[in-house]
Amino acid sequence: YGDHRDLHLSLRRQRQMCIRDSYNLPVSKNFLVTNSKEVKKAFNVIGGDKWVMKTQVHAGGRGKVGGVKLIDNIEDGIKFANQWIGKRLISKQTDAKGQPVSVVMIEPCIEIEKELYLSAVVDRSAKAISIIASGEGGVNIEEVAETNPEKIFYEKIDLMIGPQPYQARRLSEALHLDAQQSKEFWNLFKNLVKMFVDCDMSLVEINPLIITSEGHLHCLDAKVNLDSNALFRHSNLANMRDLSQEDPQESEASNHDLSYVSLDGNIGCMVNGAGLAMGTMDTIKFYGGEPANFLDVGGAATKERVAKAFKIILNDPKVKVILVNIFGGIVRCDLIAEGIIAAVKETELVIPIVVRLEGNNSKLGSDMLQKSSLAIESDNDLENAVSYTHLRAHETREDRGCRRMG
Ligand code: GDP
Ligand code: MG
Repeated sequence: YGDHRDLHLSLRRQRQMCIRDSYNLPVSKNFLVTNSKEVKKAFNVIGGDKWVMKTQVHAGGRGKVGGVKLIDNIEDGIKFANQWIGKRLISKQTDAKGQPVSVVMIEPCIEIEKELYLSAVVDRSAKAISIIASGEGGVNIEEVAETNPEKIFYEKIDLMIGPQPYQARRLSEALHLDAQQSKEFWNLFKNLVKMFVDCDMSLVEINPLIITSEGHLHCLDAKVNLDSNALFRHSNLANMRDLSQEDPQESEASNHDLSYVSLDGNIGCMVNGAGLAMGTMDTIKFYGGEPANFLDVGGAATKERVAKAFKIILNDPKVKVILVNIFGGIVRCDLIAEGIIAAVKETELVIPIVVRLEGNNSKLGSDMLQKSSLAIESDNDLENAVSYTHLRAHETREDRGCRRMG
C-alpha cells in the first residue's frame, strides 16, 4: 500500500539496449514489433535461423502460458505476433484480467547449457543491497526458497566499500562456475551493483541468467523495479513508462499526487495520510466490510484534490458507499468540508457518503456538512462512521429512498 510502492515501469521495452550500452551487461540484441507485418524484417535484421519471441508485459511467468516461444520459421513468427498483439496475457504473476500485449520482442535464440538465477534487492533490515544467486534458475525462485533454501546464496553489499571480488568468488563457487565464467561473473556482479545504485533501482531480477552452449554467461530475461521517490533524477528511465501496463485509475491518481490502489471491496475510502488510510481499512474490515480502494489524499488535501479523489473513487463501479476519514492535523477540517460539499455537487454524487472529521476545526466542518442539505452523514467517532458505512453498503436504492423520506 501507499506512498512507498514501487513504480513498475516498462523497462522490458528498452532496458536491454540501455543496460547493454551503459553497464556492459551481456544481453541479447533485440527488435521490438507492434504488428505481424514487422516480423519478417526483424528476423532478417537479426539473422540466423532460430529466434525467440516474447510478449512485453509487466509480468513474468510468460513462458508457462505460451507468451515466450522459440521460433524457427517466419510463418510461426507471424502467427505468434497475430496470436498475442492486441490480446491479454494471463500468467501466475498477473491478476485474472491479465496484462495487455502491444509489443513483442524478437531476439536471436541462444542455446542454453544451464539456467541460473541472479538478483539484487534493497534489504531494508540490513541497510544494504542483497545479491541473491542460485543454480536453480528459470523456475519459480520462491518455490526453491521454500523447498530447497540451501540452494539459494546471498551476499550483502556494503555500500561504503562497494562490491568485493571475494563476494563474487564465493557466489561463483556456489554456482559451480569455471575460471573463465567466474571472471565474467565478477564483471556482471560489479556492473549490476553499479547500475542498481546509479539508477536508484529497488529490484533487478535476472531469471534466467544462463550459461550458453559456448560456456559464457548471458542475461536472458530481467525484471526491474525503480524507486519511484527517486524517479525525478532519471528522466531517461521515466520516459520509458508504459501506461498501458498500469491500472488506469492508479496512474490517473499518481498524476495528481494521490496514492491510490484499487482493491476488491465496495466501500470507497478517502483518507489523509497513508497510516490513517491503513488504519481505516483495518477498521472497515473489523466491522465486516471490504474496502474498494486505498486512497491517501495527502497532507495538503485541497478542495481540488478532494474533488479529484472523489472522481477516481467513483470511476469504480463496485463502489456502493464512500467513507471519508480526515484527521485535521495540518489541514483544517472546515476546508475539507468545503471541498467535500463542492465535490459532491460537482460530481452529482448519487451514492451515500459518510464523513468522519476529527482534529483542527472539526466541529466547524461537521456543522457545514450538516447545513449543506446534501445527503452526507457525518460523525466524528470513527467506529460510528464505519458502522454507518457498513450499513449503507448493504442498503438497496429503495431502502435509501425510504430512509430519506422518513
Ligand atoms: P518468463 O517466463 O516471463 O520469465 O520469460 P523468460 O524470458 O524467462 O522465458 C521463459 C523461458 O524461455 C526461459 O526460462 C528459457 O527457458 C526459455 N528461453 C527464453 N529465451 C530463450 C533462448 O534464447 N533460448 C532458449 N533455448 N530458451 C529460451
Ligand atoms: Mg524469466
